[in-house]
Amino acid sequence: MDQEDGNHDETGAGARVADVLIPVAVDMAYSYSVPAGLVLNEGDVVRVPLGARETTGVVWALRSGQGGNLKRVGARVDCAPLSERMRRLVDWIAWYTLNPLGSALSLALRAPEPDARPERVRLGVRLAGPPPIRMTPARARAIAAAEGGLLIARSALSDMASVSAAVIDALVDEGTFVVEPLPVADAAERPDPDHLRPALSDGQRSAAGQLAALFGERQFAAALLEGVTGSGKTEVYFEAVADAVRQGRQCLILMPEIALTAQFIDRFTARFGVPPGLWHSGVSGRRRDRLHAAVASGEALVVAGARSALFLPFRDLALIVVDEEHEAAYKQEDGASYHARDMAIVRARFEKAGVILASATPSVESRVNAERGRYLHVRLEQRFGGRTLPDLKAIDLTREAAPRGRWISPLLETEVRRNLEAGEQSLLFLNRRGYAPLTLCRTCGHRFQCPNCSTWLVDHRFRRALVCHHCGHIERRPEACPNCASVDSLTPCGPGVERLAEEVATLFPEARTIVLSSDFPGGTERLKQELQAVAEGAFQIVIGTQLVAKGHNFPGMTLVGVIDADIGLTSGDPRAAERTFQVLQQVTGRAGRGDRPGRALLQTFQPRHPVIKALLSGDPETFYRAEIASREAAGLPPFGRLAALIVSAAERTDAERHARDLARCAEAPAGVMVLGPAEAPIALLRGRHRMRLLVKTERNVDLQAYLRAWLKRGPKPRGSIRVMVDVDPQSFF
Ligand code: ADP
Ligand code: ZN
Ligand code: ZN
Repeated sequence: MDQEDGNHDETGAGARVADVLIPVAVDMAYSYSVPAGLVLNEGDVVRVPLGARETTGVVWALRSGQGGNLKRVGARVDCAPLSERMRRLVDWIAWYTLNPLGSALSLALRAPEPDARPERVRLGVRLAGPPPIRMTPARARAIAAAEGGLLIARSALSDMASVSAAVIDALVDEGTFVVEPLPVADAAERPDPDHLRPALSDGQRSAAGQLAALFGERQFAAALLEGVTGSGKTEVYFEAVADAVRQGRQCLILMPEIALTAQFIDRFTARFGVPPGLWHSGVSGRRRDRLHAAVASGEALVVAGARSALFLPFRDLALIVVDEEHEAAYKQEDGASYHARDMAIVRARFEKAGVILASATPSVESRVNAERGRYLHVRLEQRFGGRTLPDLKAIDLTREAAPRGRWISPLLETEVRRNLEAGEQSLLFLNRRGYAPLTLCRTCGHRFQCPNCSTWLVDHRFRRALVCHHCGHIERRPEACPNCASVDSLTPCGPGVERLAEEVATLFPEARTIVLSSDFPGGTERLKQELQAVAEGAFQIVIGTQLVAKGHNFPGMTLVGVIDADIGLTSGDPRAAERTFQVLQQVTGRAGRGDRPGRALLQTFQPRHPVIKALLSGDPETFYRAEIASREAAGLPPFGRLAALIVSAAERTDAERHARDLARCAEAPAGVMVLGPAEAPIALLRGRHRMRLLVKTERNVDLQAYLRAWLKRGPKPRGSIRVMVDVDPQSFF
């Protein structure tokens, strides 16, 4: 263990009071006395009494003092302590996000429950000795099944031979079988950096060379790896991963949709001979425990994971890759809110590690950081293998509208038909789940609204229900209007992917079609298989939400039709332009990744909107230059700082009053502006009324200090009132 860790220094010798941080939403550590004979160090995971129960916490500080009235630390939990670097990271997150320290700890603490049975070493048996003196039919079966000398789990052998465990045990006693521990599955299989090195293109080789030079020293360094869709960024960052692995050092690859990316795992396995350690919510608790331990011991060299993998206890972290760094999914919005991309940078600083942010459509923040030289800007200008970027065209819906009640314009219909005849795949992209975003009564105008939220209920025909996408409220679609009792007067308004699928079935009844959205029945595993099937060409028309826009490689896909390119452009959200640009660039980038060139058609009512024009121009610089200039002029991030305060309460008047009182005690020193309160765009969410305040400051202002002082001065939330702080807000609902 290196010097900085300090876990096993005797810093705690003689100290009798332990300040223990508990992973709950509380901003301080609790003090406990340390019983004589218990040797503790800072970072140790311990059991402590809390109220009537016992809980797990981490020793945050040790000091001498009178522990007389304090409750006592129960016991030390037998697991890896939280290193000094991890504790500083937790402190930093709490400071930066204004989350309670305990909430920040909950991100990093994964202690096995002490009463949970520790994982037993599983034993297997192997045929090794002479046959037993007394042979029975059962024994003969067991021996026959174990023929070949392989190590077999005892239970598997008893199944195979239809014998009881007692028969096997008797054969062990006789010396016919020997018992050996079964190898622990995959958590720490060592990647081979030279397993299959691809021949890199000149551009890739140059990019990999720049990264290798940047990460030569054991110090923090960051690069933005920007390359158009299909340019081969993955192979480039694999080179950097291989470099680290060669030195026996660890790497973390963060991916926004790791649970869905079978292709990525396959590519990694082809390149390195073994799959990476996988960390996401779909992986079983036991496997995660194993990986956690292997990461702490340094055995697991490469982990690919969701944003929570950022808090794994790496022993010697050399590199963090943030793939698709622009993805909004990297921002965690509930509980402790943090942005995984930004946190990757912070963690890498603490670990003196390197960071690669990879994207075809970088966030404006990362773009500016690269332009200012904070990150090395490494670029891949062309698609790999001489493939061209798709040819982009707008379909002006003011002239070329779809027929009434339909969403596919005649022009797009013709192109899809052409593709079908040519045996090529098409993707129709519509970022709306369900059948219709709104249901209306034609007789009285009644609209179906969520009882808990100020949102419309979305018609889901497959599920025969109306659903709120914000709180999950679900109700049956009635036969008659609940307001005027008219029968057959309920009409769906606007399209969702299910409705689009209906239209496609009418237009192209012969086509093999699939709808892919997060509503896909059968869960993540099925979805992953279907995405694979799409890649293998099993469907001719794919209808999908943003789920299909990201990262996937569909070699046979040559046409992308964007049904409504204007979704998102009209919201007042300061990130609307950036988001729309990114998602459209990504989805159109699904076309033409194979041998045949691709094309994309954007249906829009605003063909002259700057975002649409920038997309059509094929030159992302147009977009970035305009967007960066407008952010700079408005003092928006990254040129200024932003924090949102969301005040919510069960009663609207409480939320309003509290937000107003809070605004009243806001100071406005130079460089700080407080906007609001204003009713939130979603004014009612999960039964809570919401008001928003926005703090905008110049870059050099200590935003955190300002917010802390303000909240301290301000009224204390009482009753049902809550104040949520969102530093660097990404969404503004
Ligand atoms: P990006 O992540 O930049 O969109 P990918 O890394 O997915 O691009 O690469 C696009 C395609 O090109 C993939 O099918 C990949 O397997 C292939 N490819 C990239 N680099 C190489 C290489 N050096 N040799 C062979 N195939 C490559
Ligand atoms: Zn009605
Ligand atoms: Zn709702």
